[in-house]
Amino acid sequence: MVHEFELGGEVILPGQRKLIRLSMPSLFDCTELGIPVHVIRGKKTGPTLFVCAAIHGDEINGVAACRKLLRKKILAKLKGTLLVIPIVNVFGFNSAVRYLPDRKDLNRVFPGSLKGSLASRMAHIFMNEVVKKCDYGIDLHTGAIHRSNYPHIRVSFQRPLMKKLAASFGAKVILDSKLRDGSLRQAAYEAGTPVLLFEGGQALRFEKKVIDVAVTGILNVMSHLKMLPTVEKVGSTPVVAKSSGWIRATRSGVFMPSKKLGDIVHKGEIIGKISDLLNDKSYLVKSKYEGLVLGISNLPLVNEGDAILNIASAKNIKEFADDFVYNDYL
Ligand SMILES: [Zn+2]
Repeated sequence: MVHEFELGGEVILPGQRKLIRLSMPSLFDCTELGIPVHVIRGKKTGPTLFVCAAIHGDEINGVAACRKLLRKKILAKLKGTLLVIPIVNVFGFNSAVRYLPDRKDLNRVFPGSLKGSLASRMAHIFMNEVVKKCDYGIDLHTGAIHRSNYPHIRVSFQRPLMKKLAASFGAKVILDSKLRDGSLRQAAYEAGTPVLLFEGGQALRFEKKVIDVAVTGILNVMSHLKMLPTVEKVGSTPVVAKSSGWIRATRSGVFMPSKKLGDIVHKGEIIGKISDLLNDKSYLVKSKYEGLVLGISNLPLVNEGDAILNIASAKNIKEFADDFVYNDYL
């Protein structure tokens, strides 16, 4: 990579560490707003990697993961350049919501445009100032509001390189997930920057175990890219899921799952019940898939058709052992 690194009009030299704010459109009252970018440059050359979180403003596990990553002493041994962006959607984050004030989803408007909507302008700045200057990226997410995800990596196996990069993270589950139109991951892929997407836990919570998996995974990827020395070898082979599907509520009522994240379910197996609060009747819900519980609804109130359990299908599912601890908040 280039010896001289420039971001937001500032030059960061090898061995320097700076916090730069990428200027964004201001708030209604003209309060200035910017995306904070921590730039850490090793003295020795190496790849440039970005790690970003809260592109959906309420997905804050990644914000905590970025903070923890930035405090790691091992970064003193960094080769290359690390960009850490704990909060991409600064508007949504400050209101604790997923979206932007124009009701757009920032992760659906990439690569954006300088003359487009507020969301589109933000995406454009982020693409040009961050993504296009990097060789690789890691984008941290959680489940959407009222949903929780088993910690996993989403990646498209379109390029063989991605499979290796995904495995190097060390997550127990990898989902081969198609690139979504307008996502940061798709725009980055088209710009030649491979991006791993991490999904773990739920929105609006700091979950200790999820944060730990994310930080360890980022350090593992950095070791794989020779940006850091290897601390420990990445463990067992991950379960690689080729697809995932949602089981939906068959009626409205109160859903009580009998399965949790990381459980294995069989086709036809009972995964919970939906109760009718008015006449005290309960109806069993069966799985139409065979696989691993990758996502779950945390909200017991369901309407008919609501997505309640996301099941990932994989060949090597029998080798999967779950030792994950849930609801372990910081
Ligand atoms: Zn997200």
